[in-house]
Amino acid sequence: MRVGVHTSIAGGVENAAHQAKKLGCDTFQMFSANPRGWQAQDLTDRHCEAFREARAQYGLTPVTVHDNYLINLASADSFIRARSIAAFRKEIERAIALGADYLVTHPGSSKGTTPAQAIANCAQSLREAADGLCLDGLMVLIENTAGQGSAIGRSFEEVAEIVTKAGRDLPVAACIDTAHCFAAGYPIHTPEGLEETIRKIDSTLGLKNVHVIHANDSKSAFGSHADRHEHIGKGQIGAAAFRCIVCHPRLSSIPFICETPIDKPGDDLRNIRMMRKLAGEIPRNGSESRKRRAG
Ligand SMILES: [Zn+2]
Ligand SMILES: [Zn+2]
Repeated sequence: MRVGVHTSIAGGVENAAHQAKKLGCDTFQMFSANPRGWQAQDLTDRHCEAFREARAQYGLTPVTVHDNYLINLASADSFIRARSIAAFRKEIERAIALGADYLVTHPGSSKGTTPAQAIANCAQSLREAADGLCLDGLMVLIENTAGQGSAIGRSFEEVAEIVTKAGRDLPVAACIDTAHCFAAGYPIHTPEGLEETIRKIDSTLGLKNVHVIHANDSKSAFGSHADRHEHIGKGQIGAAAFRCIVCHPRLSSIPFICETPIDKPGDDLRNIRMMRKLAGEIPRNGSESRKRRAG
């Protein structure tokens, strides 16, 4: 199992890699700028170099960048859409500069239009944002959503449609978020429901197109369409279901990234250890297993 968390770039992008190493991650996710502002600064060569060195030295792979939360590539409003396309192009450029493997994006909101039109807008915006750029190994991943408000991407079919439409012009695949699945009404909290959901992913997106799993428990109820993450094993999905998820032979080779809350210091470390414990890498009574120490 490759597991990691979303780490902070405070003080310089390279700190995201240092932090991931400190937490014992195999892989990690980061923002490449302030995720809640439109004015993103370009990354300096010095910081990108330090980042690439740290990441290589620690053997952290894959590296995933998550895009800005304000971006809405599906928007019916031409001003918001143009601004989103420009911002996403910058996201691609920064992810390339960092040597990242994946750039994860939420597909956006259909406010003011139909979901079908919003899906078409999103795919078209992705093509425009990437137009003329050499992605240099970077792949864009469309994340499924809880379906909160008018968010598109609540079903695997919607995500698959965007992937297919945009995929003609750029490398694009999917990121699946467990909390979003659960809130959207995919019953991953039961063994039968998990099997059914995996079959559904495979028949729509194709499991081979899922490159990252966001491993988050859910504070919100099943089918509530509310996006609220919880610590692994402490939410409505629960520890038993997460054990089935991390141990599932069809999922266990996909990198898991926790985007769990930090309510108190040490929560990231606890969530990673919980994931390893559920995967059987750490015995239930405590310290690291011989198997893991032996590599
Ligand atoms: Zn996520
Ligand atoms: Zn979420």
